[in-house]
Amino acid sequence: MPEISSEQLLDSLFDGVYYVDTERRITYWNAAAERISGYSKADVTGCCCAGNLLRHIDSNGRELCLEGCPLAATMRDGKSRESNIFLHHALGHRVPVSVRTSPVRDEQGEIIGAVEIFCDNSSSLQILHEYERFKQEAYLDALTGIGNRRYGEMTLATREYELQAHCIPFGVLFIDIDHFKRFNDQYGHKTGDDVLVMVAKSISYSLRKMDIVARWGGEEFVVILPGAGSAVVTSIAERIRILIEHSFILAGNNKLYVTVSIGAGLSRTDDTVETIVSRADGLMYLSKRNGRNRVTADEPQSETGPEPLPQSGDAST
Ligand code: GH3
Ligand code: MG
Ligand code: MG
Repeated sequence: MPEISSEQLLDSLFDGVYYVDTERRITYWNAAAERISGYSKADVTGCCCAGNLLRHIDSNGRELCLEGCPLAATMRDGKSRESNIFLHHALGHRVPVSVRTSPVRDEQGEIIGAVEIFCDNSSSLQILHEYERFKQEAYLDALTGIGNRRYGEMTLATREYELQAHCIPFGVLFIDIDHFKRFNDQYGHKTGDDVLVMVAKSISYSLRKMDIVARWGGEEFVVILPGAGSAVVTSIAERIRILIEHSFILAGNNKLYVTVSIGAGLSRTDDTVETIVSRADGLMYLSKRNGRNRVTADEPQSETGPEPLPQSGDAST
């Protein structure tokens, strides 16, 4: 049998693998790491992983390279670690990954670096499957690869039916990129398009499996959250806001960031597709008015209980 080098073996793995030395310089980067992150071997080899490239963050937006790098901690205490975090993709969006780190030792047992193994946590297979369906039925937004407005409207109509027929609530997020005209004017339409793709992907990677996102118009997105009450709607909206705030695209050496304003609407018993979208849109405008890069959420509908029973001493009885 022909001999297989350890590089060939590592390149055939489904999981991303990379090594860093004690200075956190990347010395090895396998094929799956290229696929998951969008960065090639040549892009990263020799770079410090705490530099411009991967910029891992947790779901609160904490930059792990600056505080709490699992590789640095593993090299300090020699212990393996596991965590679920988000890495920065070369196209700008955030990819949810499960990360495991372990120390690498020389023959004397001295720590000479660390290895990180990471796997893609996104439901990308499901996205592929959905994509095929979108393509067939013309529900795909050509630029961003997510559902288009028609897909959003169709999904909303289904949710509305479930609300009326089975009292299943849902949430709607209206998301608008802040000062996008200014961004286009400054960096050009093509870079603006790259940002739209980055924002669309960041939103879809922040969602649960049953949620959907559609591009509603130019720089506007609608997210539909089936079965979600006030707390879930607000926390998903806030996660999207934070992930986008911490995502960037690279133009030469410049990191370009955008923020979004979000309106978070909660379904009411008498809602139609138009009323709930328009309420979420109105809440988004409140976020703009109050300074942008924020979430404004609907008040949950007050529970109006059953009519009070007549008292036993009522004149009518
Ligand atoms: P605000 O924070 O109030 O939302 O300001 P804004 O500049 O984002 O809003 P405005 O509605 O004034 O501008 C939206 C811009 O979005 C204008 C248009 O150039 C840009 N836009 C719309 N569709 C596309 C697109 O497909 N590609 C690019 N690059 N830009 C787009
Ligand atoms: Mg707009
Ligand atoms: Mg805008």
